[in-house]
Amino acid sequence: MKEIVVLSGKGGTGKTSITASLAVLAGTDAIVADCDVDAANMHLLMQPDFAVSSEFYSGVLAEIDQSVCTQCGICSAKCRFDAIPFVNNKYVVNPLACEGCGYCQKVCPVGAISLLDRKSGHLYISKTKVGSTMVHARLDIAAENSGKLVAKVKSEAQLQANNQSKAFVIVDGSPGIGCPVVSSLSGANYVVLVTEPTVSGLHDLERIYGVIKRFRIKAGCIINKHDINPQKTEEILEFLKSEGIVHLASIPYDIAFTESMTQAQTIVETNSSVKNTLIETWSRIKTEISKIN
Ligand code: SF4
Ligand code: SF4
Repeated sequence: MKEIVVLSGKGGTGKTSITASLAVLAGTDAIVADCDVDAANMHLLMQPDFAVSSEFYSGVLAEIDQSVCTQCGICSAKCRFDAIPFVNNKYVVNPLACEGCGYCQKVCPVGAISLLDRKSGHLYISKTKVGSTMVHARLDIAAENSGKLVAKVKSEAQLQANNQSKAFVIVDGSPGIGCPVVSSLSGANYVVLVTEPTVSGLHDLERIYGVIKRFRIKAGCIINKHDINPQKTEEILEFLKSEGIVHLASIPYDIAFTESMTQAQTIVETNSSVKNTLIETWSRIKTEISKIN
């Protein structure tokens, strides 16, 4: 089994649309994992059935037992996150402000404070519209620790791939270069970079590749909307060459991308000419992966 992670460095390059297209082309050969858990939207295109759902817990949250609390106020004064306000004549924990550091529990003189597991979101295992298994998640509002949830999504996807003897795991990674991206790169065999010919597109491509290089993972790049700025496309091609990154494809701007999305379809389910480009790209990716031990 080989794990392919699709990353973009910046949002808005068409990463998720292209990832979903690759997932449709791979069909039941692949397990699909949506690791863009902060803004998960791949389900809009893959139409999973949310068949299996489980709660995800990460970190802890302080809770005050009011029957024990003497209202001394020490915990409120010591909390560096101002997470214990005095409300309606009692000290209460604000769950949005509490960082779960546990210091209040240590300083409470009467042992009134407990640290409870914090529910951060849900993990789903679904069947997609093409019959493949998809592992995806949703963080609760204001929940943190998305890096841990990404790790959980990935480990479940790998488990599913091994149990079902699948050839690939296709991962839609998060934009940016932060903790969720680092988490999604862990254990990956190949990275597909999706960029666009803009100043920020090239800048963020360089940044994300700086992270990938540290993991020593082979990478290929798709330049989306390559014809909107030929000069910047040339600069991207020069960067790819200088870093030894495989140029997988250049995709022209096509309104069909947006039109297909409004119908909850990927571009490869339409008659757009881009469809053939993506079919060739998936074939090229498989060839590149076959060269990895
Ligand atoms: S666990 Fe830490 S952040 Fe949360 S209320 Fe206690 S001291 Fe404040
Ligand atoms: S330190 Fe303990 S007793 Fe004092 S206000 Fe906080 S919870 Fe109540």
